[in-house]
Amino acid sequence: MTHPDAVVVVGGGLAGHTAVATLRSCGYQGRITMVTREPEAPYDRPPLSKELLSDASFEPALNPRLDYLDVDLRTATAAVGIRRGEVLTETGSVPFDAAVLAPGLRARRLPAGPGAPPARVLRTLDDAVRLRAELVPGRNVLIAGAGLIGAEVATAAAAAGCRVAVVGPEFGPALDAAPAAVLDAVRGWYGERGVELTIGTRVLETTPAGVLLSDTGFRPADVVVAAIGGEPATSWLRGMQVVLDPAGFISTDEYLRTPLPGVYAAGDAVAWRSSRYGVDMHLEHWHHAAESAQVAARNILGSAETYDPLPYFWSHQLGHSLHYVGRHDPGDTADISPAETGTAGNSTAGNGTAGNSTAGNGTARNGTDARSGWSVTWTRGGRPTAVLAIDAPHLVRRARKVLDAATQPELGAAR
Ligand SMILES: Cc1cc2nc3c(=O)[nH]c(=O)nc-3n(C[C@H](O)[C@H](O)[C@H](O)COP(=O)(O)OP(=O)(O)OC[C@H]3O[C@@H](n4cnc5c(N)ncnc54)[C@H](O)[C@@H]3O)c2cc1C
Repeated sequence: MTHPDAVVVVGGGLAGHTAVATLRSCGYQGRITMVTREPEAPYDRPPLSKELLSDASFEPALNPRLDYLDVDLRTATAAVGIRRGEVLTETGSVPFDAAVLAPGLRARRLPAGPGAPPARVLRTLDDAVRLRAELVPGRNVLIAGAGLIGAEVATAAAAAGCRVAVVGPEFGPALDAAPAAVLDAVRGWYGERGVELTIGTRVLETTPAGVLLSDTGFRPADVVVAAIGGEPATSWLRGMQVVLDPAGFISTDEYLRTPLPGVYAAGDAVAWRSSRYGVDMHLEHWHHAAESAQVAARNILGSAETYDPLPYFWSHQLGHSLHYVGRHDPGDTADISPAETGTAGNSTAGNGTAGNSTAGNGTARNGTDARSGWSVTWTRGGRPTAVLAIDAPHLVRRARKVLDAATQPELGAAR
């Protein structure tokens, strides 16, 4: 297989960076151009909420740095279209033989009422620097959204001495449909840090002095942060020969190929065909961004790899770590275990017997206060579908193995 002469990567996030690094590590010596909207070279996003909000000196660099990878890096340049063999940008067109589309997400915004300042968001380095400047002791910070980023921002704001409230319709990924005992424990984490948590309420819009809530109306706040998810940054691809799904994600086959010859997609913005789950999937997590970009880059160089990962993410929030592997549905049965005997790899997982699965109805089989952490295993028809390890990162490797075996497509399981 001959290698393409020129590759264009659209998007300078983790997926774009990993695509470049993979091409070079596989020995690709042709021309690589990276077109990215942000003014910076690629950097890592998880530290924005975990380190940078608290530590101004933290540098969220990616390894290896792009300067070692021989790339024509075009920062502050947006792609505005694509057609066969060329990416159109604000400053002209860039020809390619192969391309990786990795534009990621943009933060979803809260509506701003008349005269109200927009809520802060946290997606970029610039967002993080601006938000950090607002986290002043005594300030009244209201965070819309109780997902991963909402919880991480709350952690930083509380540590900075702010008075913090988190308001959201539900808990975020992994905690949705978690047993009541888990949610009680998570509520306790907020309480221990003095963060007020309200679940079951939406922030409707910002006002000049706070926000409007869906149930109790006006609530004052000095700083409002919208941590309400993101939307694929793909409006520039509408009407092109690349197919977008109804939510705007870039549709690909299981090789991450779009219908345009030589054009692949990777990262948060891609929706690919998963044989494991029998659905078109998208994920918005670090490992997915890196691994999908690796597969896309290798396929550009002639591999024929399908992409079919087990979903995985981690989060550090309110002094606790969460690691989640797999994919559960609200109807799956949940079983809580202390980490020492965690079901993430014990004999009940994957052998067709669900063990003592009492926690789906909110009753924990074991306490959630084991000092070395605990885990939740979801099962369906006796097979494990997902594992959430809380303060027990060591369970992840075993959980991956068990879940990988249990969700192989030929078993027809866990769909
Ligand atoms: C604050 C924060 C904390 C996170 N923490 C975790 C965590 O703990 N665990 C975890 O698993 N995941 C975490 N994530 C998610 C993880 O960082 C993302 O999944 C990952 O960054 C996605 O990479 P990406 O390259 O697909 O997209 P992005 O990182 O969004 O990069 C896309 C890039 O493309 C650029 N772009 C967009 N449109 C265009 C265009 N038209 N032309 C040119 N360039 C364009 C964007 O400006 C951006 O630079 C976190 C994310 C954030 C924001």
